[in-house]
Amino acid sequence: MISFQNIEKSFDQQLVLKKINLEIQKGELMVLLGASGSGKTTMLRMINALEKPDSGSIEISNQNIGLHNILDLRKQIGYVIQKVGLFPHYSVYDNVATILRLKAEDEKSIKQKVHQWLGKIGMPASIYGNKYPAELSGGEAQRIGLARALVAKPKMILLDEPFSALDPISRVIIRNKFRKIQREEKLTAVMVTHDVLEAVSMADRICLLANGEIQQVGTPQEIIFHPKNDWVAKFIKGDQ
Ligand code: ATP
Repeated sequence: MISFQNIEKSFDQQLVLKKINLEIQKGELMVLLGASGSGKTTMLRMINALEKPDSGSIEISNQNIGLHNILDLRKQIGYVIQKVGLFPHYSVYDNVATILRLKAEDEKSIKQKVHQWLGKIGMPASIYGNKYPAELSGGEAQRIGLARALVAKPKMILLDEPFSALDPISRVIIRNKFRKIQREEKLTAVMVTHDVLEAVSMADRICLLANGEIQQVGTPQEIIFHPKNDWVAKFIKGDQ
């Protein structure tokens, strides 16, 4: 589904990604895990063409990203970042409805979808629909951000530290809700985090990065029980 082939990227003569090769399968949740500055966000941003590699290629559904129409590509991709960026002057309902209005869907179908997705993320429209972002907690706002990304039925979703600013209880609730939806919808998901526990509890597979190089790709079990090198073993134990 998403394929990184020999990707290299530098910023200001600093080599940030070094010969990255990674295959992300349809419907899987791949976590990019690593310390700050290891190149996780740069990889994620390459998938929706917000960053360009210096060399190598990225393929989505077997087609080089350069051959995709960028706007069409981005319509297929939901993007959720830590700072959720809801429209402050729109109600919760309108925040989620906006993307469907841009597609010129009729209001009846929009209403049905907005109600469906607010229900799925545990924030029913009857209670939250008329609230404004300033009236929501961080966890609630992040859930609306997810509903807004999901209502348009993307094929892929990219998440950059989406839950890191939340309190521990909200984090667990939203992680579980997201994971359930991601499985049900068979959504291909790529999530960046530096939190080992979050990675292990959510990922189908984890790609561990250090200094722009992949150290190991594997299931949480493989990484915990068969670390490929000392760096991986230490990072997983929190010693790195
Ligand atoms: P973090 O967990 O701190 O967000 P990360 O693993 O996501 O880190 P990146 O954000 O991909 O890392 O950054 C990798 C390196 O590239 C860092 O040293 C960063 O300073 C640098 N970098 C990223 N984007 C740019 C940019 N637009 N201009 C210059 N340097 C950049």
